[in-house]
Amino acid sequence: MTVPFFPPDLFEDDRQQLMDLVHDIGTAPEQRFLLGEHTARFEEALRDSLGAADVVACSSGTSALTLVLHAMGIGPGDEVVVPAYGCAPLANTVAGLRATPVFADIDPWTIVADPDQVERSITDRTRAIMPAHMFSVMADMPRMSEIARRHGVRLVEDSAVAQGGVLDGRPAGTWGEAGVFSFVQVKTFGTAGEGGAVVTMNPELARTVRSLRNHGQRERFVYPRTGYNSRFDEVLAAFQLHRLRGFPDLLERRARIADHYTERFTPLAERGVLPPPPGRNGRCFYVYSLLVEERDELKRYLADRGIESHVYYPLPLPHQAAFTRFAPAGRRWPHAESASRRQLAIPVHPRLTDAQVEHIADTVCAYAGLSRSR
Ligand SMILES: *Cc1c(COP(=O)(O)O)cnc(C)c1O
Repeated sequence: MTVPFFPPDLFEDDRQQLMDLVHDIGTAPEQRFLLGEHTARFEEALRDSLGAADVVACSSGTSALTLVLHAMGIGPGDEVVVPAYGCAPLANTVAGLRATPVFADIDPWTIVADPDQVERSITDRTRAIMPAHMFSVMADMPRMSEIARRHGVRLVEDSAVAQGGVLDGRPAGTWGEAGVFSFVQVKTFGTAGEGGAVVTMNPELARTVRSLRNHGQRERFVYPRTGYNSRFDEVLAAFQLHRLRGFPDLLERRARIADHYTERFTPLAERGVLPPPPGRNGRCFYVYSLLVEERDELKRYLADRGIESHVYYPLPLPHQAAFTRFAPAGRRWPHAESASRRQLAIPVHPRLTDAQVEHIADTVCAYAGLSRSR
C-alpha cells in the first residue's frame, strides 16, 4: 500500500462543477473574470458563516497579510512580532513593507508562539503582534488579545491554516483585528489555484483592504492611495462557494483521523514520538504534526512502508538566510530550533481511507516499538 501525503484526487467530487463553471463564466455575456458577482457572493457567505464584519477575497494568503499590515499603516521603522518557527510569509510580508519582523520563540509542545515570549519581544517600536496557528493547534488567542490590548499594539491573526477551527466558541480568523485565509491547494479549504481572504471585525479596515487589493482604487480610475493587484478569480469564487457546503464534512473527516492518531500515539510520548495535545477546542487539522527524537529515522521507516511524510520548516525563520539580518546577534530560539529538528508531518487529508489511516497508525506505533495488542 502506498499512501501519498497530498490527495491525488482532491477535486474528484467537484470536477464536473468546475468544468461547468469554466464554461458558464467563460461564455457569459458580461465576460467578467475578476471581482464580480461570484466573488461578492462568496465573501458574503464566508462573512455570514463567521459572524465577521467583512470578508475581502484576494489573490493569496500572503497577499491577505500584506493588505492587512499595509492597511494598518505598518512601514519603515515599525516592528511586528512573529513566531520564530513557521512559514516564510510571516516574515516576508513584514519585510516587504520595510518593517522589521521580531521573532518570538514557541511553546515546545503546541509549537505556536509562546505568549510570554511574544510579550517579551515588544518594544516601543512594536506596532503589531502576528501569531500564527500552526498545523493543528491554534495560537493562544485569548492571551494574545490581552497582550495586544495591554501594550496598545494591533493583533493580526495568521489563520491561513486554520479555516474552520474554533477556539472557545470563536472561529479562527475572528480573534484578531484581522485574520486571513489561504485557498492554496494544500490548505483545508484549498482550491484549484491561488486565493486568499482577509477576515475582519473592523469595517473601516475592510474598506481600506478592499481598495488596496485593486491598486488603491476608490472608484473607477480614482486612486487616493498606492495599492496592489490582489484580485480574486470569478471561477474560483463560484467553485469555492459551491464547495462551502461540503467543507464541514471535510473538516470532520480530518478531525476524526487526527483524533484517532492522537489516541494511538499518546502512549508513544516516552518513546520519542510526541503527538499534539488531544481534543477539538482550538484545533485545526491542516497538517498532523509529530515531534520525533529520531525524525529522519521515522521518515525513512515510513517511506520504506509506502507512507509519504513531510518535514515542514527544517530551519527556524531567524536562521533562514533571507531573515538572518533580522536576527539579533546572540539571540536564540531554542524551542523553534528543537521543532525544526524534530517535526514530521504524516498524511491527514480527508480522502484517506480507513485502511490507509490504520496502516499509518500501525506503522508509527511499530516504529516506536509498540504493537497494537500491547
Ligand atoms: C499557507 C500560509 C500562508 C500563505 O498563504 P498563500 O495562499 O500560500 O500565500 C501564510 N501563513 C501561513 C501560516 C500559511 O501556512
